[in-house]
Amino acid sequence: MICEMCGKEAPARPMLVEGIKLNLCPDCAKFGDEYKTQGGQPGQPAPGAPPVSRTVIEARLQKREKRMQTRDVYSGSTTLELVDDYGRAIREAREAKGMDLEEFGKSILEKRGILAKIEANDLIPDDKMIAKLEKALGIKLREQVQTGGTIGGARPGGPPTLADFIKKK
Ligand SMILES: [Zn+2]
Repeated sequence: MICEMCGKEAPARPMLVEGIKLNLCPDCAKFGDEYKTQGGQPGQPAPGAPPVSRTVIEARLQKREKRMQTRDVYSGSTTLELVDDYGRAIREAREAKGMDLEEFGKSILEKRGILAKIEANDLIPDDKMIAKLEKALGIKLREQVQTGGTIGGARPGGPPTLADFIKKK
């Protein structure tokens, strides 16, 4: 039996929720009232939920799904970003390997001048270059950064929204 409130596979039993009969699992049973079979129809099993309650349940489950997806997306929004002191990290790793810029440049087929600029934080390496440097030096130049920020924040003083327009009418 599937719980019609949360969709979980559980030993659900019929309960009354806002006047609608739903099969609820033990977790959700607290949201419902005791369902009493109405007399006068003995031996006649309910032919599934009526169309209205199905719609209500589906809307509820969809809403719930949406809410969970939004939260997942929000909490999972991390991006890889270049560390601030990438130049120093590269130079230290290179020196630890006992290579000067010339040798290092030759080893990864990059121009010495370019590498010097990167080590001085004067040039931001592109993704390809970052991957190459990370691999050649055995270091990590990127870190996971949480991209938070406000979603649909208020805009005081912004242009009027449709809602404002309707309110004024
Ligand atoms: Zn449930």
